[in-house]
Amino acid sequence: MKAKKRLGQNFLHDPNIIGKILHVANPGKSDTFYEIGSGHGAITDELVKRAGTVHLVELDDELIPELEEKYGQHAHVTIHHLDALTLQLPASMDGRKVRVIGNLPYNVSTPLLIHLLQQADRIEDMLFMLQKEVVTRMAAQPGGKDYGRLSVMLQHRFDVHPLFVVKPGSFVPAPRVDSQMVRLVPKAHPPLVDFSTLERVVKQAFSQRRKTLKNNLKGLFSTRQLEDMGLDPRQRPETVSVDQYCQLARALEANPSTGSMTVI
Ligand code: SAM
Repeated sequence: MKAKKRLGQNFLHDPNIIGKILHVANPGKSDTFYEIGSGHGAITDELVKRAGTVHLVELDDELIPELEEKYGQHAHVTIHHLDALTLQLPASMDGRKVRVIGNLPYNVSTPLLIHLLQQADRIEDMLFMLQKEVVTRMAAQPGGKDYGRLSVMLQHRFDVHPLFVVKPGSFVPAPRVDSQMVRLVPKAHPPLVDFSTLERVVKQAFSQRRKTLKNNLKGLFSTRQLEDMGLDPRQRPETVSVDQYCQLARALEANPSTGSMTVI
């Protein structure tokens, strides 16, 4: 089968890397796994052997018969032929949450992360292979060029743990970039903040990275309001912490009319 670029198909073929992924995942009989983009089953074989319940999510029509043939006879495996961007994880039962794993299609990795982020209360942890550069942005701390929308949105809900780097030669076809595994663990006490309000504030704050917070948040917050929240209106958006963005979103939620105020 010819790999489809539009589906981000870079199949893992390096047994060392596959072993390392399974080592950090450490699937057990009490685990329910959702694997995103099962492909030819590089990670799936071992997951199916070791995990209690396994859901395989694959979009490519051509790969479904192969997955059916390999894993269809196992009662604890379900194959979902669908776009992971529409995946709805089950609500946790008896406090039991699902684990998500995948060597993700890089072309949809950011929207996929944002889609799953909104289901964080159903997730025990997520273990993904991504472009190294994306993992750097996910885990970035305030103050640098990598810190941006993705960092704030993910870190307000998850602890982000970058793991080992994987070279292009471990995949067929080889991608042009280095990859990296990352583990995301939902925060035990996430901040109480409305997701779409936070998204709106963060999007607007980072709309022009070189401008000040005051300029970018014009129309949402006055200079006085920013100062009252302990922010310097001349700060650049990349110097504002995740907690401070949550604070801004809560202020906007509490007073939606703020959105129409003019900056003093
Ligand atoms: N897990 C396999 C491996 O490690 O070799 C395949 C990984 S490959 C990087 C990404 C897989 O995701 C491909 O099998 C591709 O068909 C599938 N895929 C691409 N877009 C998808 C989507 N939106 N939803 C579900 N699967 C998708």
